[in-house]
Amino acid sequence: MKIRGILHRSYGRDVMLEGAAPRGVDADVLVVGAGPVGLFLSGLLGRAGLRTVLIERRQSSAPPSMAIGIMPPSLMMFEAIGAAAPVVAAGCAVATAVVHDHAGELGRVDFTALPPPFAFILAVSQGELMRILRARACSFPSVCVLDGREAVGVRQDSSSVVLQVRDVRDDTRTELTAPFVAACDGCHSTLRRLLGGVHDGKRYRVSFVMGDFPDTTAWAHDAHLFFTPRGSVESFPLPGHRRRWIALADGPAADTPALVERVRTISGVELDAGAELWHSSFTPERRLARTFSSGRVVLCGDAAHVMSPIGGQGMNTGFGDAWQLAAIMRRLSASHEHHAPLFARYETDRRRAFRIAANRAARGMWLGTRKGRIGSTVRAFVIRRVLLRPPFVLRLPPYFAMLTIPRGRDPLPPQPGGAA
Ligand SMILES: Cc1cc2nc3c(=O)[nH]c(=O)nc-3n(C[C@H](O)[C@H](O)[C@H](O)COP(=O)(O)OP(=O)(O)OC[C@H]3O[C@@H](n4cnc5c(N)ncnc54)[C@H](O)[C@@H]3O)c2cc1C
Repeated sequence: MKIRGILHRSYGRDVMLEGAAPRGVDADVLVVGAGPVGLFLSGLLGRAGLRTVLIERRQSSAPPSMAIGIMPPSLMMFEAIGAAAPVVAAGCAVATAVVHDHAGELGRVDFTALPPPFAFILAVSQGELMRILRARACSFPSVCVLDGREAVGVRQDSSSVVLQVRDVRDDTRTELTAPFVAACDGCHSTLRRLLGGVHDGKRYRVSFVMGDFPDTTAWAHDAHLFFTPRGSVESFPLPGHRRRWIALADGPAADTPALVERVRTISGVELDAGAELWHSSFTPERRLARTFSSGRVVLCGDAAHVMSPIGGQGMNTGFGDAWQLAAIMRRLSASHEHHAPLFARYETDRRRAFRIAANRAARGMWLGTRKGRIGSTVRAFVIRRVLLRPPFVLRLPPYFAMLTIPRGRDPLPPQPGGAA
């Protein structure tokens, strides 16, 4: 079968096949979805020497810009697959966030006192991040990435999972078998739906509009947050002298002129609409799968949970999922343990991490969506008199950097060196 030939050639590079996977299976773990979380998980599994097949329905590897904030715990985890150094080199280290209201600067959050070596929040485009994670995953001989392949069906018994896979180029179907499947297929997860999983949650009643522009400010690598009676604007540096601007939408208008107008009235910065490099809008959601696993299929990343992008924690929480799941897969491949208790622990730990992060995102949304004179005065008071004063101001950097959210067990020692 065509796909088996690809796997054979791919594994044939120099991996020992006799080890982990029994006869009749195509991999130790099938990963569905080469988003940031699926790519990172595949890298971790490859680093552990597990035969991993990653399928992705998109044919091109050009993802949307979307996520930009990478937190220190993620960078620490990236060290295990040699991805931290290239990701840091590709990004902007944000060391300070400057907070304003309509009357001027309210104060600053300084990240330089965070523990080294990652005493900053990294801003990097999602496309560049995924390029590096993909390169690192593919550098492990036991990892095979198949683009243009969509998971369209699944069945399982007590020892394995069979995934029905469609080749999107010619609509041919094939089957892949493995002891376990990790569903990293995003918030509209096909696997979750096929297994009858429910994604409980809500859509918030606010929308945001955002765009990337050439950076014409003198703010260097600082982030700037504006909270005024007319709404809020956030601005983050991006590599290549660009800036991401995010504004609370005012009514249904979500196009470039609307963003430029919001940025001008709230922050006073004049953007050139014609120079916009990328544009999008979003209505935040908060969703959580009712169960994170069904038999031998486990949800990971947005397939399991979605939170508001405000605060930049969704993808970072997904990296935490991948970290713990990789440890579990490694343990299962090396023992005769039953998977159910380990998957149950994964679910407990990751639900907790999600709850903490999503509640923080909700508080950030509350802060950013106060409008009018009274709401804005209350917010300015809270920011100036409480949050930006000791002891809170000392707690804010590790809080925003997600260093106070517990993560799962370490699966692997860091890999020395590591270029993309
Ligand atoms: C505007 C915005 C800004 C954000 N900013 C941040 C931020 O700064 N920091 C942060 O931490 N998070 C941020 N997030 C959240 C972040 O984008 C997501 O949490 C993250 O992309 C989830 O990654 P994932 O790999 O789980 O899923 P996805 O990125 O959705 O990837 C899923 C992949 O699975 C593939 N797929 C789907 N179905 C199938 C199938 N049946 N077969 C094969 N492949 C399939 C898809 O093509 C896709 O490539 C932001 C989100 C938004 C909307």
